Amino acid sequence: MKIAFFSAKAYDKQFFDRHNVGHTIVYFESPLNEHTVNLTAGCQAVCVFVNDTLNAVVISELKRSGVQLIALRCAGFNNVDLQAAKENNITVVRVPAYSPHAVAEHAAALILTLNRKTHKAYNRVRETNFSLERLLGFDLYGKKVGVIGTGKIGQAFCDIMTGFGCKVLAFDIMANKELEAKGVEYLPLMDILDQADIISLHCPLTEQTRHIINAQTIAMMKHGVMLINTSRGALIETADTIEALKNGKIGYLGLDVYEQEETLFFKDLSENVIQDDIIMRLLSFPNVLITSHQGFFTEEALTQIAETTLSNVDGFVEGKTLKNIVV
Ligand code: NAD
Repeated sequence: MKIAFFSAKAYDKQFFDRHNVGHTIVYFESPLNEHTVNLTAGCQAVCVFVNDTLNAVVISELKRSGVQLIALRCAGFNNVDLQAAKENNITVVRVPAYSPHAVAEHAAALILTLNRKTHKAYNRVRETNFSLERLLGFDLYGKKVGVIGTGKIGQAFCDIMTGFGCKVLAFDIMANKELEAKGVEYLPLMDILDQADIISLHCPLTEQTRHIINAQTIAMMKHGVMLINTSRGALIETADTIEALKNGKIGYLGLDVYEQEETLFFKDLSENVIQDDIIMRLLSFPNVLITSHQGFFTEEALTQIAETTLSNVDGFVEGKTLKNIVV
């Protein structure tokens, strides 16, 4: 199969070329959108990532190019108009699980860094500043951690925080019995917002979860709460978090995702004038830590992403029942 591979980075090429047997992959650095969809001419599949745009217009153009398969090399599919894919008879497959530990461990890294300020300590000590002033943290042991969404990543995250001796409170539309047996307590969202010292988001972006963190839900949180988002940027109404950071309601904010990340993340913009004033305001706070969607970025996860994506394509070519089908 000839696959148009969008938003390609050197590491994508390295992992996909290592695992590809028999497909022709054409790599494009540019994202898939209305301006680049013509690059798919002659391809039967596209391979796309989190910030590629697959709206109704792009999908109907894909159909015109002869594309039969959209192979997402990620778990989330909120960037695909599934109805349009269905109407155009284009199959959508994804990678539902690839080392959930990678993202869960990154969420833990954000928590530890924000709390113990190791990023600041690293720079200080390199400049022979051995002072401890303003590096004060708190014990994680005994703190209440609220987890919103206890699927594969949320579950791995609950295990990590339980290991630290935290009391884990969870909210999900479906309780996980295995976690309950380990002492995780499922509560209504409002109770979690009210009680948690740290809140970490691990639910998908859907119409129900869009801006689940907003002025109203932030008002229910503890003063000085730590908020972590490694899931999808639009779970948070960013302008409301900025207000809450200004008045101290949010004491720490750790983000691996950002609602307007498409124009920023995965690119070196160090020589550019950034036009996004919201991210620049966020970066001005000493208690905000932002990473650019790197939760998935481990050797193990990239291997699984390449293997599963290519096996999804193989399954489609061979007419097998696709276990990772979205539509
Ligand atoms: P999953 O499908 O295994 O789990 C999602 C959980 O959220 C499920 O238990 C589901 O019941 C729950 N959920 C759904 N709607 C909800 C709602 N309205 N309220 C509360 N809970 C709800 O998914 P996963 O593999 O654990 O991934 C979770 C999310 O992490 C993905 O959707 C994706 O957005 C994000 N992600 C981020 C990265 C990264 O690099 N930062 C990488 C992979 C995935």
